[in-house]
Amino acid sequence: MGIFSKQIGIDLGTANTLVYIPGKGVVINEPTVVAISEYDNSVLAIGNEAKEMIGKTHEAIIAYNPIRDGVIADYRITEALLSYFINKAMGKWNIVKPEVMISVPAGVTSTERRAVIEVAVRAGAKAAHVVREPIVAAIGAGIPIYESQGYMVVDIGGGTTDVAVIALGGIVVCNSVKTAGNKIDTAITSYLKKKHNLAIGDHTAERIKIKIGAAVNLPDNLEIMVKGRDYVSGLPKSVELSTSDIVTAIADELAEMMQAIKKVLHDTPPELAADIIDNGIIMTGGSSQLRGLTDLVHHETGVRARLADDPLQCVIRGIGEALQHTDLYKRALLSKR
Ligand code: ADP
Ligand code: MG
Repeated sequence: MGIFSKQIGIDLGTANTLVYIPGKGVVINEPTVVAISEYDNSVLAIGNEAKEMIGKTHEAIIAYNPIRDGVIADYRITEALLSYFINKAMGKWNIVKPEVMISVPAGVTSTERRAVIEVAVRAGAKAAHVVREPIVAAIGAGIPIYESQGYMVVDIGGGTTDVAVIALGGIVVCNSVKTAGNKIDTAITSYLKKKHNLAIGDHTAERIKIKIGAAVNLPDNLEIMVKGRDYVSGLPKSVELSTSDIVTAIADELAEMMQAIKKVLHDTPPELAADIIDNGIIMTGGSSQLRGLTDLVHHETGVRARLADDPLQCVIRGIGEALQHTDLYKRALLSKR
């Protein structure tokens, strides 16, 4: 990337978008949500503003996520979202177009990769460079990616669980499944429907998950009163839920995530597998914060697992680090592996 132009980094996640400016740090951290009018498909609001709008106005508004499973699901809306965040990050009076470094999942096709670059340029970037998420997540988690030692990074976000083994600055093995935070929320919603005939609002499942959810039973069972509507009578009703209910409700989703990790362990060359046993599994992404998840990973794989510092910001911190030391990370960022 050029030395004299302005550079910014973007983590365009399924759930959250973060923007980094060297010298300033993370300047944008907002949901990847666009509020769209049901009448004419026009964009009404983006990010925090969009999330606040949903359910609070009389207008028919749809909350739309233009990124699905880590890749662009809708070009027009993604362009609007990126353009809004780039302008907000750069400041109104800035007329210089920035060079953008943007992360993509390890498994994207070359078409999906080109689409990200194209949309970023249409959204106001002078040029766009894509970097693979596991590499920047590892950098952001403080892993010395250039060591010959192997490291395993598991990133669990909103849409996908991404597992990668990294050594000598490259991805040796990786795997991705479309089961993560969103599917966990859906599982909680279905559980309440099946078990209690209870219909809940859109954000309630996520709130329950964060308040009392866990991957394994905890010594102290947390509890919450869930309010919703009875499917049969149509009347308001509340139900008490505890952590052990959530553990049951989301067991299948967690099993899929564990399967994804085990598959990568199976495909890892023995020398690197030995390193991973020594170094442990490093977990990043918002959903890694689910209580007891590192314990479940340890129990299922036999390998210790630990949560990275500030797991929601590992990817953007890694991008920031890479932007500030392009010379150091050039090889890892340009490599197609
Ligand atoms: P993405 O990179 O896909 O945008 P993030 O890494 O930003 O995703 O993580 C978002 C996900 O993390 C959401 O599904 C959210 O519900 C989940 N999440 C956030 N905090 C917690 C928490 N404390 N416990 C469990 N899940 C969480
Ligand atoms: Mg992410």
